Amino acid sequence: MNLEYKNVWVFLERRREEIIESSLEVLGKARELADKYGDKVAGVLMGAGNLDKLAETAITYGADIVYTIQDDVLQDYSTIPYSEALSRMIIRYKPNIILYPATRNGRDLAGRVSAKLNLGLSANTVWLDIVGDGVLLAGVPGFGGGIMAVTKCLTKPQMATVRPGVFPKPQPNPTRTGRIERIDVGKLPEPQVKTIERVFYTVEDISKAEAIVIAGMGIRENIEAVKKLAEKLNWAFGATRPLSDEGLVPRDIFVGATGKTVRPKIALIVGASGAAHFISGVAGAEKIISINIDPEAPIHSYSDYSIVGDAYKIIPKLLEKLEAEAK
Ligand SMILES: Cc1cc2nc3c(=O)[nH]c(=O)nc-3n(C[C@H](O)[C@H](O)[C@H](O)COP(=O)(O)OP(=O)(O)OC[C@H]3O[C@@H](n4cnc5c(N)ncnc54)[C@H](O)[C@@H]3O)c2cc1C
Repeated sequence: MNLEYKNVWVFLERRREEIIESSLEVLGKARELADKYGDKVAGVLMGAGNLDKLAETAITYGADIVYTIQDDVLQDYSTIPYSEALSRMIIRYKPNIILYPATRNGRDLAGRVSAKLNLGLSANTVWLDIVGDGVLLAGVPGFGGGIMAVTKCLTKPQMATVRPGVFPKPQPNPTRTGRIERIDVGKLPEPQVKTIERVFYTVEDISKAEAIVIAGMGIRENIEAVKKLAEKLNWAFGATRPLSDEGLVPRDIFVGATGKTVRPKIALIVGASGAAHFISGVAGAEKIISINIDPEAPIHSYSDYSIVGDAYKIIPKLLEKLEAEAK
């Protein structure tokens, strides 16, 4: 084993004073990879207050060591202080691998660290494996998921962002033991963004919906109209994954193999092609109605009723009709 670079690190992203689910998923995968070549897993946790409780949680999910960096400038995620703190840690400890959840913050941090330290980064990976003495192979989907390229970083630490929802969250083991190390990385730069107010939203659980309207990329520019239609019908609102990946809808409402599984009595699917990864999340619907401009789109073969037409015209018309009926 190359002793100069060791351990598999995971960026433990926090939200509302909890470690987010996708970091725990990555932690589970990191455990599997490290076990394969006999290495340790270390979590990196940054924040302002005492982080010991969260660090203990990370240990129950598979970390052997949790490095905590406590500084007021790390209260909320911010690119400059977070990337500076992590870069200093990397230079000091030389990890073999660093995995980040491919969330907005995880992708931002990984990209910044990659540029700062001139390191390779496999982005948005959906498959990971180890060969030899800790060489990371990372699968990156391309062409809308049609192919998967297996990539390898030529620099160390090897880094990858991992798509949320791809790997299962491990079962916590409360009897696991590990080490928490508080690290002083020196004075950090101030964040360039200040939080004025925190607004939390709650999202309904679409998996229990009896009726749902689902928006796809074909109506990307007018998701609001689809949402409004769902409201008017009093149906749940869901989406395909690309809309969530682009940050246009919350992650909790995308349907599919890596998102929510819905089993409604009726699903209206607007502007979605019917990709296999999406269909597996909606296949349990009793009736599917789809709207798609392309008569050859695969979604039609899964639909009980198909409307071949422009959703940008059809949805406003449906809304008009519902509004007229309500008067
Ligand atoms: C490992 C992995 C996991 C994945 N997991 C999921 C998952 O859980 N859920 C998921 O959704 N995807 C998932 N994907 C992505 C999936 O493969 C597809 O890329 C995705 O479902 C496509 O989304 P879409 O149908 O909205 O977009 P597109 O495939 O781009 O389809 C858009 C559709 O809109 C139609 N359209 C365009 N303009 C209009 C218009 N004006 N009116 C009406 N129709 C129009 C087009 O004809 C087209 O059929 C995954 C991929 C991978 C690799």
